[in-house]
Amino acid sequence: MNKNSSNTMALTPNTPNKRETVCIFGTGDFGRALGHKMIQSGYPVVFGSRSAQTSSLLPKDAEVLSHAEAAQKAAVIIIAIQRQHYNFLAPLAEILHGKVLVDISNNLKINQYPESNAEYLAQLVPGAKVVKAFNTVSAWALQSGTLDASRQVFVCGDDVEAKQMVMDIVRALGLTPLDQGSLLAAQEIENYPLQLFPMWKFPIYLSLGLTAFFFFYCLALDVIYPYIYENKDFSFFIAISIPNKVCPILALILLALVYLPGVLAAIIQLYRGTKYRRFPDWLDKWMLCRKQLGLVALAFASVHVLYTLVIPIRSYVRWRISSYTVSQALNNKTSPLDITNAWLSDSYVALGILGFFLFVLLGITSLPSVSNNVNWREFRFVQSKLGYLTLILCTAHTLVYGGKWFLNPSSYKWYLPHAYMLSLIVPCAVLVVKFVLIFPCIDKPLTQIRQGWERNPRYSA
Ligand code: NAP
Repeated sequence: MNKNSSNTMALTPNTPNKRETVCIFGTGDFGRALGHKMIQSGYPVVFGSRSAQTSSLLPKDAEVLSHAEAAQKAAVIIIAIQRQHYNFLAPLAEILHGKVLVDISNNLKINQYPESNAEYLAQLVPGAKVVKAFNTVSAWALQSGTLDASRQVFVCGDDVEAKQMVMDIVRALGLTPLDQGSLLAAQEIENYPLQLFPMWKFPIYLSLGLTAFFFFYCLALDVIYPYIYENKDFSFFIAISIPNKVCPILALILLALVYLPGVLAAIIQLYRGTKYRRFPDWLDKWMLCRKQLGLVALAFASVHVLYTLVIPIRSYVRWRISSYTVSQALNNKTSPLDITNAWLSDSYVALGILGFFLFVLLGITSLPSVSNNVNWREFRFVQSKLGYLTLILCTAHTLVYGGKWFLNPSSYKWYLPHAYMLSLIVPCAVLVVKFVLIFPCIDKPLTQIRQGWERNPRYSA
């Protein structure tokens, strides 16, 4: 066996007409799926395996050889093997010298090893040009062709020419290579498929916690209290009435929590007199998940709209209307239209409709396909100015709904305020502080700080 003959194989980029043979080490799920895709795309494929026997699962046009033999047939070798088995590559170091080794491996845990799998491979086979790629694509997606969500392939490596060759292969397979720089980026790329909606964790946990709190709060005041003191069974409130209270409450609080970190950041910057000191970690993380918080808030608002639409067909509501009509008939007395009430109810509905309309607009502009088509100023106008307007409208919607109960002692069951009153605390606080921040005497120094001015400059000119 001439071990060196293939080491001198030119590392020329593939041309569309003639594809270079690609070697795949490992005939497991990923190796097979990638092999099929490569053959479809016109690449001759040779598998390197512990057993040089072909199987019906392998693409029939592919050769199956020993690792050493297969490696000599190609300049690019894709290592479709788990990291813990990489040891067998060390004795092949001489054959693999000068080859492009593509590390596609993933781990079971984030930062499982001190170095990335790709760096480990580079240490095991020092003469090879290691490139990290394909680890974010699943074997199933490759085989079934359902690559819509994972068409992007992150690629990194220290050898520019080798990286280019791998990116050409990625492109030829109909995928989109994204150059992530040197092999130092491999650890981050390997951690990527292990992350489970990292930006969504805080919004989801927070909304679950708040939902549970407000659900039981409303249950206590609207179902348990009347049952104990008035012997009335309102347990059916659990199906629609209580969720229809919890959803708008959550929507309003979460919307306010989208704007609260901005307000806190402004206070911190004013206090420190500089923008060049880092915010506390918790504030940084909070700011990063504002979009997700807003989208969860929008989801709650949408469910509230749906619940509200079914109110007229609820049997409890129809019973209340008919019994009110009957009582008027029995008493032979028609109640006059209460203009104040009519105004309040129409204003409440109008504020809700307008607030929801702007809320949806905010949600739409946060979609990448839309936000990519507006410039930074337009995006800020929608997310900040229209966002605050949405918060004002939604807060006013809640205030008009329940303002009449604020001073009514009978509405404080067990001395507790109505749940909607609690929901107003954060939004009102955010709006009041924001209102103070736009006063010229505060806005001017804040703007200067954000443009780089420092109260106590650390570096004098
Ligand atoms: P797999 O089905 O278990 O296949 C791994 C292959 O490695 C085996 O078929 C075997 O091939 C070879 N192998 C096993 N033990 C070995 C040893 N001691 N020495 C040498 N070779 C050995 O795994 P897979 O799902 O294809 O995954 C392969 C790699 O791709 C992993 O690093 C994984 O993290 C990565 N990956 C997988 C996916 C996916 O969707 N499956 C997605 C992204 C990345 P032979 O019998 O032919 O020697």
